[in-house]
Amino acid sequence: MTAPRSLRISAAGTASTTPTSRVPCSSRADRCATSATDAAALARLARVITRCRLCPRLVAHRELVARTKRRQFRDEAYWGRPLPGFGDPAARLLIVGLAPAAHGGNRTGRIFTGDQSGDWLFRALYDAGFANQPRSESRDDGLVLRDAYVPAAARCAPPDNKPTIAELARCRPYLLRERAFLTRVCAIVALGRIAFATVLAAERAAGTVLPRPLPRFAHGMVTVLGRVTLIASYHPSRQNTQTGKLSRAMLAAVFARARRCLDGDARRARAQ
Ligand code: SF4
Repeated sequence: MTAPRSLRISAAGTASTTPTSRVPCSSRADRCATSATDAAALARLARVITRCRLCPRLVAHRELVARTKRRQFRDEAYWGRPLPGFGDPAARLLIVGLAPAAHGGNRTGRIFTGDQSGDWLFRALYDAGFANQPRSESRDDGLVLRDAYVPAAARCAPPDNKPTIAELARCRPYLLRERAFLTRVCAIVALGRIAFATVLAAERAAGTVLPRPLPRFAHGMVTVLGRVTLIASYHPSRQNTQTGKLSRAMLAAVFARARRCLDGDARRARAQ
């Protein structure tokens, strides 16, 4: 087991070294062999997730929002259900958000779609080569993720964007199950403090030995957890982006760091 350790990256995306003894990501041949079965398993899991009603408070909220709607979307049929993850089943990069926005993902039926947070996220993913377009407006907008997959800590839109600890714990098994099917993941970006804590909890539940003391959330913090590199980022929420807490350059630096992490793993895999 590789000793876990932490380091930070700057807003410009510069970073210090990663351990050379880490297990590299799967090869291109592995990708072809595993992606079909992973995709089928993820699709089956998605159907389970979208029917979930385990959290009475969140079920009531997501469905109330879907009935009452925001004025500007009053002619649209809201999704009003939980959201499975979205992206490439052979992804090496996992990007974990908090929860669907009431009039974003809860309206459109796809995570980070139809709201300002998604505009920021997918612009950054496009610029880093993880998406085919910078827009994320609806489920049929043509967006395709390459080598990236986006789940959330909670799959239902919570009141005030705040799921409770119990709701997060109830939803975490879905992340664990998705994670188990995403067999090539070797880098995770956690968007915000809650997503960061959720990833740590999920990795621990999956058997990863976590560092002691546990890493604390800080934007740009990079932590190596076994074969996975965890990168912390502020969430691209309106509150963070409009106050300048998170700039586009800061978010770009996070995904540039993720890209370098994947490139380094691929080089090590080829050298073996
Ligand atoms: S938050 Fe998760 S566990 Fe709770 S109802 Fe939604 S999908 Fe189910």
